[in-house]
Amino acid sequence: RGRMAKSKFEYVKSFESEDKLLPNCWIVVRVDGKSFHKFSEKHEFEKPNDIRALHLMNRAAVKVMEHFKDIVISYGDSDEFSFILRKDTEIFNRRGFKIMTYINSLFSSSYVYCWKQHFDVKLKFPPFFDARIILYPTDENLRDYLSWRQVDCHINNLYNTTFWALVLKGGLTNQEAEKRLCGTVTADKNEILFSEFNINYNDEPEIFKKGTILLRKKIRSPNSDHFKKVIIPLHEDLISEKFWNIHSEILTIKSGQEYAYDSVEALP
Ligand code: ATP
Ligand code: ATP
Ligand code: MG
Ligand code: MG
Ligand code: MG
Ligand code: MG
Ligand code: MG
Repeated sequence: RGRMAKSKFEYVKSFESEDKLLPNCWIVVRVDGKSFHKFSEKHEFEKPNDIRALHLMNRAAVKVMEHFKDIVISYGDSDEFSFILRKDTEIFNRRGFKIMTYINSLFSSSYVYCWKQHFDVKLKFPPFFDARIILYPTDENLRDYLSWRQVDCHINNLYNTTFWALVLKGGLTNQEAEKRLCGTVTADKNEILFSEFNINYNDEPEIFKKGTILLRKKIRSPNSDHFKKVIIPLHEDLISEKFWNIHSEILTIKSGQEYAYDSVEALP
C-alpha cells in the first residue's frame, strides 16, 4: 500500500484472523430479519402473508444476485434468504467475512432502497438482518440444506395460516389460537382450516407454501436468435429429484460457463 507509511501502530493489523474458507465446498449465506415479528406489525403487514413484503424480499435478493454472479441459486421465505455460491468460486479469495458481510449489507440496503416500490406506508425505522455463512462439502448436504429451509417454510406457513384463520375469521384471541394449536399435527391443522373455515390448504398460493427459488437462465426469445440472461423466480418443490433433473446445471456449472434454454416456454 504505497502511500500509507508504516507506523508504529500497524502491528494491530496482525490481530486480524485468517478467514479463508475451505476450498471445493458449497458456500451458503443466510440472512434473516431482526425482530420481523415486530417489524411486520409496525409496518402493517397483512397476516399471515403480506405479498408485498415477499416481493420486496425477492427484489432485494435479485439485487444481490445481479451483483454477485457466483450465486447459482437462492431460496427465500418469510424474512429470510439463502444465497448459494459455486463451490469453485474464488470471489474475494474465499474470505468468509468479506463474502458474508457484503451479501448481508447489499441485501439490507436493497431492502430499504426498494421499499417505496412495494409499500405506501413509510419506513418507520431501519430494518436490519443477521447473517451466517455455512460450508457444505457434498451436493447431498446442499440439497438437504435447501430441503430443510423449504420444509421449514411449509411448517411455518401451515401454522401461521391456521393461526390467523382462528384469529381473523374465528374471533379467537392470539392466546386462545395459540392454545388451540398447541400439540396439533399437520392433519389437525388441515382439518381445522377445511372444516371450520372452508379453506383447502392445497389451494393456498404456491409462493406462500413453497417460498421463492431464484435461478439464472439464459433464454432465447421465440422466433429470434436473441439471448438474454434473466433471474427467474420459481415457487415449486425443490426437495424432489425432478427439480434437480430439470435444473441440473445448478450443481455442475463452472465459472464463466453459460447455460441456455431454447425459449421461455422451455421453462417449467
Ligand atoms: P475496497 O472495496 O477494497 O474497500 P475502496 O475503493 O472502498 O475499495 P478504500 O481503501 O476503502 O477503497 O478507500 C475508500 C475510498 O473512498 C477513498 O480512497 C476515497 O477515494 C473514497 N472516499 C471515502 N470517503 C470519502 C469522503 N468522505 N470524501 C471523498 N472520498 C471518499
Ligand atoms: P428474530 O430476530 O429472532 O429473527 P423474528 O421476529 O424476525 O425474530 P422469525 O422467526 O425470523 O422471527 O420470523 C419472522 C416473522 O416476521 C414471522 O413470524 C412473521 O411474524 C413476520 N413476517 C415475515 N415476513 C412476513 C410476511 N411476508 N407477511 C407477514 N408477516 C411476515
Ligand atoms: Mg476504507
Ligand atoms: Mg429466528
Ligand atoms: Mg427474523
Ligand atoms: Mg425468519
Ligand atoms: Mg472501501
